Amino acid sequence: YVKDQGRSHYRFFKEDMNASFTNTALLESHLRRAIEFDELEIHYQPQVNLKTGLIDSFEALLRWNNRKFGFVSPADFIPLAEESDLILSIGNWVLEGVCKQLKEWQDKEFRPVRIAVNISPKQFRTSDFAEKTGVLIQKHGIHPSSFEVEITETALMHMNDTLATLKKLKDIGVTISVDDFGTGYSSLSYLKQYPIDIIKIDRSFIKDIEMDQKNEAIAKTIINLAHNLGMEVIAEGVEKDLQAQILKEADCHKAQGFLFSRPVPAGVIVQKYFN
Ligand code: C2E
Ligand code: MG
Ligand code: MG
Ligand code: MG
Repeated sequence: YVKDQGRSHYRFFKEDMNASFTNTALLESHLRRAIEFDELEIHYQPQVNLKTGLIDSFEALLRWNNRKFGFVSPADFIPLAEESDLILSIGNWVLEGVCKQLKEWQDKEFRPVRIAVNISPKQFRTSDFAEKTGVLIQKHGIHPSSFEVEITETALMHMNDTLATLKKLKDIGVTISVDDFGTGYSSLSYLKQYPIDIIKIDRSFIKDIEMDQKNEAIAKTIINLAHNLGMEVIAEGVEKDLQAQILKEADCHKAQGFLFSRPVPAGVIVQKYFN
């Protein structure tokens, strides 16, 4: 394993097929027991309103600290979990965890905030996803408006009753966002069919927006598209002040990225944003 560019987790070196297979199988067997061994934790990354500087929403991002492998990146273990049905139990664990967190903050009478949860394509495709989400929200007694589901465009495209599921989620009162916008293989026509509230501009367009005119053009076009459709727009992966400036001037509503905060544990969120 090599340390991944100063981040606190590890990635595989895929140089040897066999070694890679063994590691993957081993990793999966550890992931299978991650919940019972209490190795998963949810971190939260603030989304900053570029006009006001205020923060009223966060993205939930899963963290796995394994006794053998140490910190493993979701970029590695989520795809692995998606290959099996493991993603369903992990996904449900995250949904429960976020509901509990929202309930705790609600009971403490902190100011109202919204938490966005990443929903894997497999989880979204389960036949009763919307109903289960509704039941969960009711069971925990949280305000539906504090709950957001993040779905990639690819996941939205590969299902027959996407519209029905999204409508049910809207009826419950949940916010719906499209994650990694602009990177999936899909037409734009779904934007007019589906009740989408928020578009999240993929990090790849933001990364060098201050130097790459094409990325700047793409980001600004997505921002205009969102405005024209009456949707909110969030830029992902903002690391530099100059990037935030460009996005603010282009009227991008919100931004999230290391410039403002890395994903951090709930305790840090409370300390930094609720006091
Ligand atoms: P994503 O949903 O697009 O999440 C954004 C990723 O960008 C996160 O990586 C976040 O830590 C990272 N990020 C945020 N700001 C910056 C920045 O300024 N610079 C850079 N370089 N990166 C930034 P993370 O936490 O490693 O998650 C990777 C992906 O794993 C997520 O991409 C999401 O697709 C998936 N994932 C994470 N948690 C969950 C989960 O609970 N359920 C599911 N199904 N997928 C998850
Ligand atoms: Mg996301
Ligand atoms: Mg994303
Ligand atoms: Mg992503």
